[in-house]
Amino acid sequence: MTQKKLRRIGVLTSGGDAPGMNAAIRSVVRTCIQHGIVPIGIYRGYNGLIHSNVVELNARSVNGITSRGGTMLYTARCEEFRTKEGVERAAKTCRYLGIDGLVVIGGDGTFRGARDLSAEGINTVGIPGTIDNDIACTDYSIGFDTAANTAIEAIDKLTDTMQSHERISVVELMGRNAGHLALYVGLAVGATAILVPEHPFDMEADIVEKIREGHYNNKRHFIVIVAEGVGHTTEIAQRIKELTGIETRVTIMGHIQRGGSPSARDRVMASRMGHYAVKTLLEGHTNQVVVYRNALVQRITIDEALQMKKDLDFYLYEVARDISI
Ligand code: ATP
Repeated sequence: MTQKKLRRIGVLTSGGDAPGMNAAIRSVVRTCIQHGIVPIGIYRGYNGLIHSNVVELNARSVNGITSRGGTMLYTARCEEFRTKEGVERAAKTCRYLGIDGLVVIGGDGTFRGARDLSAEGINTVGIPGTIDNDIACTDYSIGFDTAANTAIEAIDKLTDTMQSHERISVVELMGRNAGHLALYVGLAVGATAILVPEHPFDMEADIVEKIREGHYNNKRHFIVIVAEGVGHTTEIAQRIKELTGIETRVTIMGHIQRGGSPSARDRVMASRMGHYAVKTLLEGHTNQVVVYRNALVQRITIDEALQMKKDLDFYLYEVARDISI
């Protein structure tokens, strides 16, 4: 913990973008200004820090960005920052520009970078931002709610056409190695089966039998959700078609899930987390992550955060399975 008066706080977005990142940037900027601190926007994640690609922000620079998806500061992955020299260069830029506190918005990789910078004497705090909601230390990551709603809206539209043609729709959703988004969306759209990487599935018992039974009971269209971490979505769809004899179509939802105007939940959560991040720095803390746990915004150390593991919500899985008959 350090007690020096902060003059300038930098903010950057790193890793994959997520809707709500702009609202977090706005909150960081405005909270800084409220406390007489100059906010500095850093472009393209850690690249901007290494190469001094920065801009001084003011209250007006973040006007009207809350409703926009993506990130006004752009985001990027930065290989150079994974090296000791890269981190030292970034710390040097911070000292040169008078940035004595840094808010980084991203995932675990971004937090690792913040931990390394903290060891170089730069006060850092992370904010979880990813549509995958796979960051272990927090129950919620900025972007998840918007991505879920985007996917639900698209699947509702797909359902209209699948219903008319009496087809099976196999939909692949994002989530990298985790099934949180797929499970949440699958439950919300009433999917017949939800395939997630955390849970083994049996093609016959978990999918085909259910479809046959539904068909026998006059159900005329079916949605099967596949988390991208399961892989082989096209092959799975082909197999379902062969085994059921029902016309089956694949939709890969892809990056569309990352875009769009953030939901109320993401805007409010991002605003809270941005505010809390600046407060954390003002209190003299470093090497921290802002988390949402037990319905509270709070902070934990990055070291603690990176050691945590996140399980799928198996109760949610059970609910989805039990009511998809
Ligand atoms: P997402 O969940 O969207 O992938 P992320 O923050 O986990 O977000 P990464 O690509 O893993 O995304 O990391 C973002 C950036 O953080 C990297 O490009 C790199 O600059 C930095 N970073 C990642 N891992 C480390 C590490 N071990 N040490 C230092 N910096 C790292």
